[in-house]
Amino acid sequence: MARATFGVLLLLTICYQGIWAAQAPVKLLNDGNRIPVIALGTYGSADDIAVMRQAVFWAIEAGYRHIDTAELYRNEEQVGQGIADALQKGLVRREELFITTKLWNNHHARDQVIPALRDSLRRLGLDYVDLYLIHSPVAQAANGTFEDIDYLDTWRGMEDAKKLGLTKSIGVSNFNSEQINRIINNCEIKPAVNEIEVNPTLTQEALISYCQSVGIEVMSYSPFGFMVSRNRENSPPPKFDDPELTKMAHKYGKSTSQIVLRYLIDRDTIPIPKSVNKERIKKNIDIFDFSLTEEEIATINKFNKNVRVVDIVKWKNHPYYPFNKP
Ligand code: NDP
Repeated sequence: MARATFGVLLLLTICYQGIWAAQAPVKLLNDGNRIPVIALGTYGSADDIAVMRQAVFWAIEAGYRHIDTAELYRNEEQVGQGIADALQKGLVRREELFITTKLWNNHHARDQVIPALRDSLRRLGLDYVDLYLIHSPVAQAANGTFEDIDYLDTWRGMEDAKKLGLTKSIGVSNFNSEQINRIINNCEIKPAVNEIEVNPTLTQEALISYCQSVGIEVMSYSPFGFMVSRNRENSPPPKFDDPELTKMAHKYGKSTSQIVLRYLIDRDTIPIPKSVNKERIKKNIDIFDFSLTEEEIATINKFNKNVRVVDIVKWKNHPYYPFNKP
């Protein structure tokens, strides 16, 4: 009898911990924290912002535990509401979620970092985030003019924020390997993450292998690259109906979108697919029951054209423009 009761309790605990839900594995960051290996992307149009609360709730319901937002996206409030809905309905506990947000370019002075993070936390309705990233190495005033602030000063502000417990981990986004190396040689706390664009037409082999060699996890943004419309003429292949991707999709009983997300997982990165559509949100996390072979990864790498979805032309003359080297 006691054994049967124990069995039921164990089963309830397993179900409560969500082991049977469609959840992503986690990785250990270099600071000892754990990061779920797929995140919901949230950058989008005003129409997307209007439905983001619902999208974030659907994502948590579907098993996502990691949400990627930023001050720049003007949706931290809606993201926070979606999180609050999920917490209130008992879907998850706060400590089971991993929330990433980012410091925008106009708060790069060391003493601006903590106030900017506190503003993000207020909009999100949270006491802390799990990961705070410098959105880019480029410092700008609110009107967009360049500012002469070294990202090493910004990094010191990030270290201050982590020491205060306002964020569990700190990292960077859109930094190249030289810039990261300079932080590593001048920091107290190493960046845990570099969030960069990675997809079949921007495979980033050099930057990813550099980050991995120094223990920095890579989060892959714009994972679908030019497979989705970016309103750009002559956008390079592949598209969702590409024959090579379709062959892999048939082999594994998946869609080509899932193949590309799995490719990013199998390259040991953390993809950030954005969707506000309930079915696509579910589909994008349903990628943990198969893996690609080395040959299949190499086949997808061959699509590389070093073409970026996100290239900020107006940053090109900034001394810290990051995209002119790996
Ligand atoms: P994605 O590569 O995630 O593509 C998003 C587009 O794909 C949307 O139009 C979405 O439409 C559609 N989509 C989603 N799932 C599928 C699917 N299964 N099949 C077909 N279409 C699909 O692009 P993003 O550029 O948004 O990048 C993802 C996230 O990365 C951002 O939202 C943001 O969080 C982060 N990011 C970070 C940057 C940085 O500088 N750090 C820069 C850019 C992005 P729908 O919503 O209708 O499903």
